[in-house]
Amino acid sequence: MINADNTLQDRFGRGVEYLRLSVTDRCDFRCVYCMAEDMTFLPRNQILSLEQLFDIAHSFVQLGVKKIRLTGGEPLVRNNVISLIERLGQLEQLEQLHLTTNGAQLDKFAAPLKAAGLTGMNISLDSLQPERFKALTRFGDLKKVLSGIDAARDAGFNRIKLNAVILKGRNDDEILDLVDFVRDKHIDISFIEEMPLGHISEHDRALSFISSEQIRNTIESRHSLTPTTENTGGPSRYYRMSDSTSRIGFISPHSHNFCHLCNRVRLTVEGRLLLCLGNEHSVSLKEIVDRYPGDELKLREAIIQAMDLKPERHHFSLDDEPQIVRFMNTTGG
Ligand code: SAM
Ligand code: SF4
Repeated sequence: MINADNTLQDRFGRGVEYLRLSVTDRCDFRCVYCMAEDMTFLPRNQILSLEQLFDIAHSFVQLGVKKIRLTGGEPLVRNNVISLIERLGQLEQLEQLHLTTNGAQLDKFAAPLKAAGLTGMNISLDSLQPERFKALTRFGDLKKVLSGIDAARDAGFNRIKLNAVILKGRNDDEILDLVDFVRDKHIDISFIEEMPLGHISEHDRALSFISSEQIRNTIESRHSLTPTTENTGGPSRYYRMSDSTSRIGFISPHSHNFCHLCNRVRLTVEGRLLLCLGNEHSVSLKEIVDRYPGDELKLREAIIQAMDLKPERHHFSLDDEPQIVRFMNTTGG
């Protein structure tokens, strides 16, 4: 539904003011928890054009959305993505325009992204050991990502945040190293519990699972953590250390359900508006923009109606079979 002040609300009284916009399902990495090694990507005629992505994002902003995060897949592999960011960067009502990236191309893109109006960045990094980094991402070159992080800092982004997925037996011995790394760089980090999105063969998600609490205990063996009420509009719960500016966040879809605070929806690059990461409720906005190009009214109507489909919560479990068969790269992480 739509409130009197022209903002979106779902059936459970939650305001929706955050859109995650997937600009591609493609990627130059194949992280083991995110993708199968052998992926088939969407044909180009099934994905939204940059113009259509802008039109949909613009309609959301007209309906009170204050934060947009571009994601994917790897957003920086989409041709001309900077032109989309430039247009979004000019929308006055939009308070935060962020990007989640694997960082591999940031040495080239960080400065143009800043100039285009991007206001914040999350960079994914699960290991500081080159061999292991390569194994976890299947294609990644750690050196490039590290120089990308420095390029983002040099370009003047403040509050850069790393995202790290910790898997038992693969990188759980690097938790303290990752904390030292962000302290040294004066940036933040969020540790993410692995989510059961898509079938993967390389590891058993139930065996590799490590909870946010276990990670927090490991960090507290060296640094005492004070919980804060700071909220960046996403699902992270933040802690601070007394001797550092870095914040430590935890995204805990399994151990600390955050659905009651959910303020966001996702648009896949196929134009499917997903109302919840852990459910299949969706409507096709591509059908609307294909059929009625430039008709903002039709688009806004469809978005307002879709709010009624937003479910109350996800039901992720560590059982064998993922209930959600789409991979994170098609969902938009
Ligand atoms: N390619 C970009 C990147 O890696 O930052 C953006 C898209 S990626 C899908 C967004 C985030 O989702 C990354 O931080 C990644 O680690 C996380 N992710 C992917 N698959 C996941 C899963 N199954 N469980 C938890 N996090 C996952
Ligand atoms: Fe690509 Fe990001 Fe998925 Fe890794 S997590 S495969 S970088 S989309």
